[in-house]
This record gives sequence, structure tokens and C-alpha cells, in this order.
Amino acid sequence: MGKATGFMDYKREKLNERDPLTRQNDWKEYSAPYTDDVLKKQGARCMDCGTPFCQIGMEIKGGVSGCPIYNLIPEWNDLVYRGRWKEALERLQKTNNFPEFTGRVCPAPCEGSCTVAINDPAVSIKNIERTIIDKGFENGWITPRIPSSRTGKKIAIVGSGPAGLASADQLNQAGHAVTVFERSDRLGGLLTYGIPNMKLDKEVVERRVKLLRQEGIDFVTNTEIGVDVTADELKEQFDAVILCTGAQKQRDLLIEGREAKGIHLAMDYLTLATKSMLDSGFKDKNFIDAKGKDVIVIGGGDTGADCVATALRQKAKSVVQFGKHPKLPDTRVGDNMWPEQPYVFSLDYAYEEAQAKFGEDPRQYSIQTTKIVADKNGKLKELHTIQMEKVK
Ligand SMILES: Cc1cc2nc3c(=O)[nH]c(=O)nc-3n(C[C@H](O)[C@H](O)[C@H](O)COP(=O)(O)OP(=O)(O)OC[C@H]3O[C@@H](n4cnc5c(N)ncnc54)[C@H](O)[C@@H]3O)c2cc1C
Ligand code: SF4
Repeated sequence: MGKATGFMDYKREKLNERDPLTRQNDWKEYSAPYTDDVLKKQGARCMDCGTPFCQIGMEIKGGVSGCPIYNLIPEWNDLVYRGRWKEALERLQKTNNFPEFTGRVCPAPCEGSCTVAINDPAVSIKNIERTIIDKGFENGWITPRIPSSRTGKKIAIVGSGPAGLASADQLNQAGHAVTVFERSDRLGGLLTYGIPNMKLDKEVVERRVKLLRQEGIDFVTNTEIGVDVTADELKEQFDAVILCTGAQKQRDLLIEGREAKGIHLAMDYLTLATKSMLDSGFKDKNFIDAKGKDVIVIGGGDTGADCVATALRQKAKSVVQFGKHPKLPDTRVGDNMWPEQPYVFSLDYAYEEAQAKFGEDPRQYSIQTTKIVADKNGKLKELHTIQMEKVK
């Protein structure tokens, strides 16, 4: 354990975020790592618990508590406190194929179940994780690990999202010859064409893919299994096939008036925005543009938040988000006890940005959209809603 009294001596530092008003003028990541000195103190806050709840990775009452991949959190917290970054990286890589992704976008159930969080803000685990791996890349500590021997077995992986990439990494390191098939033009699944650039820079995804290629993995893009290559062909050519195709079915809102012009599905909106940014820096205009528009995002989750942040960057006139659930309390209430996932209010990056621009949180709670009305040209004119109330 680093510093015995660290959790009393130092306060948790919030994520190092860029100014919410400034950052919505660009598509760069909204957060940045802290200096070594700040993170050393954050690492010192870890109590090296006998039972580290941060890494239990279990489901309690339907929510995830602790790290689902059992990251060795207290070990690398201690190493960071002692300034032994390279060793911290080695410990981190023992359980995590891609800490540069999780360190940026994981919802951090480790922090929700951290013991310090019983009566104080949790250890900044996610922030420390991200800095360890970013430092690893910056210092050239991450180099291709080419397997010393090959098994002669060939494995096909369908889909290049995080599941496909992690499977490919594990199987390649085990010595198999791995080929990843991806129907899209770019690799990464929703890491590339779902999560917006300000949350996860696409260069971070490309950097990892480049490394995986150097380690011997083959990637085939623009190839849909079941269309361009049949399942039988795949089974003939490979010893095993792994399906990592994700959950790509979108959930529509099938209510009266849905066909009105001006209504889009979040995934079309977000994917086109990222694709246009990567293809041409938005010059091709091949995206759904919210510029100058009054935008309503229906759906209160993280994907909705990403739509809010994207609309802000496109200079929407106003942005509001409707969610079906009531506003969460500021602290745990009722039977939502530690170390369960905390169901508490938070101001995510997109809401912070909207608040900075328009003076208020864009979220409207407990709203159900019941009907859409179009004008005589078929263009969206009205949303009809009901205000709901949660009763036990
Ligand atoms: C807008 C948005 C924001 C998100 N933000 C976060 C976040 O902040 N934190 C977080 O933890 N999670 C987030 N998620 C969820 C996360 O992205 C997913 O859980 C994760 O990407 C799922 O990984 P996967 O590999 O299973 O599938 P996917 O990422 O969906 O990848 C599946 C891949 O398979 C390909 N494929 C499908 N069928 C075929 C076929 N027949 N042939 C070839 N290829 C095929 C697809 O093109 C796709 O590239 C977000 C999701 C969205 C949509
Ligand atoms: S639960 Fe929190 S304090 Fe305990 S070991 Fe994990 S990070 Fe450290």
C-alpha cells in the first residue's frame, strides 16, 4: 500500500476536462490526463483493501459492481504512487487488452464499488488507468509482441468491435493465425462508428489496430460474412469461427407520425458524423446536419448524450433531451447500497457542455413521446408528450 493516510490527506480530483464552452468548438477529446504529481496523490488515496471491491466484477441486483475484467487495481494504484509507471503498465496489461479504450469510455463500475466511496469520492481509478497506458505509448514501452511459435490453426473472427479485437488479440498471442472480417470500411465497430471522437479519438483506435497488424493479425474490411463470403466458405477455410457481430439492431419509436421528415435514428446520425469527419473533415457534407436547428433527442441514455454533444458541435440552435426515467438522486437512497452500482445523478460531458452554452441541463425527465405531427410538407412540426410520475 502506498500512503497509509492518503485517502484522508488528499481529495479526489475530478477528470481533467477541457473547458465545456471551448471544447464544443472542436471534435478533439474532451478530457486529458493529469500530471504525474496529481496522479501520484490520486494513487495514494487507494487503501489497498484486503478485499478490493473495485475488482470484484460481479452482478448485484442487475447492476455491475467492480471491474468486469478483474483489473489488478490496487496493485497499479500503488505502483503509480511510487512512480513505477512501467511496472504499473505491466500489471494493467495482464488483465486488459485495450486499457486506452476502457480508460476513456468505460463507465467505471470499479469506482462505484471502491471502498473509499462509502463515505468519500472514490479513488480516480479510470483516470489512473488511462494515464498508465497513454504513458506506455508515449514512452515507446508498447511494442509489437510477436508470438514466438505458431500452432498452424486458422481462426476467423467476424466483426472488429472491441469483442472482435480482444478475441483476435488473445488468439493471436496463443499462436493461432487470425483473420478478422469487417463489413464496414473501417475497423473498430462502435469504437469507431458509435462513440464520438470527443470521447474516444479515432487515432487511438487506429493506433491499436496498427499494433495488432504488426503482431500478425490480418484484417479484411468491406466484407460482410453471409453476403460477400458465405458461412460455409468460412468454415471450410478456417479451423474455427468466432462471431463478434455486436447488437446492431436499432430500437425505433413506432408511434403515430414517425414517418415525418427530420426524424433520424441515433446510430445513423452519429455514424455519418464520424465517417464524414474521418473521410473529409466534414467537407463532403455527407452527414445529418443539426446546424441552426432546434434538436430534441428522445432517449435519456449515453447514446442520447453523445447526440447532444454532436448537435452542439454542429451548432444547433437549441438542444433538449427527453428521458423516460425520473431524475436520479444526488446520493444513494433506499436499498441502493454500496458496493452496488450507484444510481445517482451525474453531469456527463454532453450535459456540462449544453449547460455551459444554454444555461441549463438539457435533460427533461419522465417524459413519454406519444405522437408526432408533421406540417403540410411532411416535415416534423410537433411532438406530443405526457409527463409521467413514478409510483411504487
Ligand atoms: C453511441 C454509443 C456510445 C457508446 N458509448 C459507450 C461508452 O462510453 N462506454 C462503453 O463502455 N460503451 C459504450 N457504448 C457501447 C459499446 O460501444 C458496445 O458495447 C461495444 O462496442 C460492443 O462491442 P462488440 O464488439 O460486441 O460490437 P460492435 O462494436 O457493435 O462491433 C460489431 C462489428 O461487427 C461488424 N459486423 C456485424 N455483422 C457482420 C458481418 N456479417 N460480417 C462482417 N462484420 C460484421 C459490425 O460492422 C461491427 O463493426 C456505446 C455505444 C454507442 C452506440
Ligand atoms: S476498493 Fe478502492 S481503496 Fe480499495 S483497493 Fe480498490 S481502489 Fe483501492
